[in-house]
Amino acid sequence: MEYRTLGRTGLKVGEIGIGGEWFNGLSSEESTNIIDAAILNGMNFIDVFMPQAATRDNIGTALKGRRDKFIIQGHLCTVFEDEQYGRTRDITKTKKSFNDLLERLHTDYIDIGMIHYVDSDEDYASVFETEIIEYAKELKEKGIVRYIGMSSHNPTIALKAVESGLIDVLMFSINPAYDMEKSDSNIEDLMEYKDLKESTWTVDSARQKLYTACENIGVAITVMKPLGAGSLLAAESSPFGVAMTVPQCIHYALGRNGVKVVIIGCHTVPEVLEAVRYYNVDDKDKEYGHIFTKNNSIKMVGRCMYCNHCQPCPSHIDIAAVTKFLDLASQQDSVPDTVNQHYFAMKTNANNCIMCGKCEPNCPFSVEIRENMKKAKEMFKANI
Ligand code: SF4
Ligand code: SF4
Repeated sequence: MEYRTLGRTGLKVGEIGIGGEWFNGLSSEESTNIIDAAILNGMNFIDVFMPQAATRDNIGTALKGRRDKFIIQGHLCTVFEDEQYGRTRDITKTKKSFNDLLERLHTDYIDIGMIHYVDSDEDYASVFETEIIEYAKELKEKGIVRYIGMSSHNPTIALKAVESGLIDVLMFSINPAYDMEKSDSNIEDLMEYKDLKESTWTVDSARQKLYTACENIGVAITVMKPLGAGSLLAAESSPFGVAMTVPQCIHYALGRNGVKVVIIGCHTVPEVLEAVRYYNVDDKDKEYGHIFTKNNSIKMVGRCMYCNHCQPCPSHIDIAAVTKFLDLASQQDSVPDTVNQHYFAMKTNANNCIMCGKCEPNCPFSVEIRENMKKAKEMFKANI
């Protein structure tokens, strides 16, 4: 496992975390086995949105005596009513469900109090202009939640929350297909890939802007649905017409700006092992560029996907990293100090580019790499 800093919270998190939704229906023993395997493999992050009592009890049992081994992202505003999961903005129900979560997990604190699933302006107001946000703040003041987060599938709403200064963590749906959907896509259309921008096949600019803002502001992104609920793993269900592997999906998500943890829903111990296999596969087996080039039917134009298919570079420049820093800095009035420091911490950068152009034919997305190198040279030079 490799670890990242969870944005401005400063917490150290394993890059791959566990999504607890598949714990629903498992026995206590099965749940404990998954947690055992997760700990053994260095995982320390779990998302718990499930309001089901048995599921919470099983996770609580599995964590007994080792609560401190996990950063828990526990959701506010989920309820179990009429024998089913639901989302609420009712303050009484929210408090009751959150207290139930603490009790069943046998803990007196939750690391990230994640306000559940805010995807519209109306719903944003029903959280951020009501007792819900006041309750979250009160929990934080009392140390019962250490940080406040929000989950969303809508980049415009998510950005609003990120820029409000009220949240430290954003749980967001990221995979290569969702990234190409319209920013106002609702969740059903999003998951059925109804709003793919097939005319351009490029990353939605609102999503790009969100990820960059998160990185710059220090709001950590924890990724949900990195596998597109499994649809990206089979050619028949993938909108790209070609299957991805779990390591490729993880690699894509980890490569986005702002991303600190990719959450994989695990139902069995082998699924935990499949997730952490990411660290045992060759770099070439993490590459995902094939999904964009199959039959040349999908054309991504101009936008860098940070895949490094353009390598090798005779000057050993990490082209994806340079471009990532360039994208980060381009959305600011001036280059942030931290970005500048990280840029110059690389062994080579755009200053080493000899403009040979060898990289460009290798880029599946027709990125003007030499242009980007020139821009990076200009941009970062001024800040040495
Ligand atoms: S320039 Fe092209 S090949 Fe290189 S990292 Fe960006 S998208 Fe990938
Ligand atoms: S143009 Fe620059 S970045 Fe591209 S291969 Fe040549 S030296 Fe490397």
